Amino acid sequence: MRLKDKVALITGGGSGIGRAIAREFAGEGAKLLIAELDESSGQAVADEIGEAARFQRCDTSQESDVEAAIAATIDAFGQLDIMVNNAGVARQDWDTTLAVNLSGVYYGCKHAAERMAAHGGGSIINLSSILGLVGIGGEDPYVAAKHGVVGLTRNFAIAFGGRGVRVNCINPGWIETPMTDPIRESESIQQQVVTQTPLGRFGTPEEVAKVALFLASDESSFVTGAPLIVDGGWTAH
Ligand code: NAP
Repeated sequence: MRLKDKVALITGGGSGIGRAIAREFAGEGAKLLIAELDESSGQAVADEIGEAARFQRCDTSQESDVEAAIAATIDAFGQLDIMVNNAGVARQDWDTTLAVNLSGVYYGCKHAAERMAAHGGGSIINLSSILGLVGIGGEDPYVAAKHGVVGLTRNFAIAFGGRGVRVNCINPGWIETPMTDPIRESESIQQQVVTQTPLGRFGTPEEVAKVALFLASDESSFVTGAPLIVDGGWTAH
């Protein structure tokens, strides 16, 4: 059990990558709170995991919701060791995208880092994207927000390293989740992604969750401020 006695909060844990991370962490012994906008999916994941999980409705674009989710985690389980700032949106307008994909991550880093530092440390994992490292000639709000997440990750890693808090981000490539449904529905765009990916396929949410597990566990004890690319080689070109 690589996360025995650890407590995690996962935003957007009702779907896709967040759900896979919740299942992976629970399987490794963690207790967790799923903070999710969608009540039915968030509650369903908590129910599936059972005693070790709680659900709290949370809109990560609202700072007070993020603070409340962190407080609820500590109330329920006594501590917070791992914060996964995963909630995200795609194909939305500038304000919505920046509010969820960048401000939401900032609120999570800010409040979790302070609580973790006060109790000896922890691990923060932010979901960026390959579009946080390279442009794509469109999707301006998404690309800007995901680049911002890499910057926030580095800044918080520097600010809190001395207080035992590690801060990293994951930069997934094209992963099979509801977010990429529209891409996979178009045969030509799907083929383009597959052709441009050296491993020749989309990734699975479980493959991203394995990297989150590494970052959450003590196995990554000297890793901080790092973007970890999980893209089947897409950015190797
Ligand atoms: P997903 O299946 O759409 O899951 C995103 C989850 O976040 C959903 O449960 C969604 O709830 C929730 N959410 C959206 N806005 C929220 C808010 N304001 N507050 C709380 N929860 C909110 O997408 P995914 O692919 O798993 O994406 C997870 C993260 O990975 C995102 O940050 C995404 O940008 C990043 N990522 C994904 C890919 C990919 O190819 N899939 C690639 C790179 C990076 P609703 O269902 O209610 O909207």
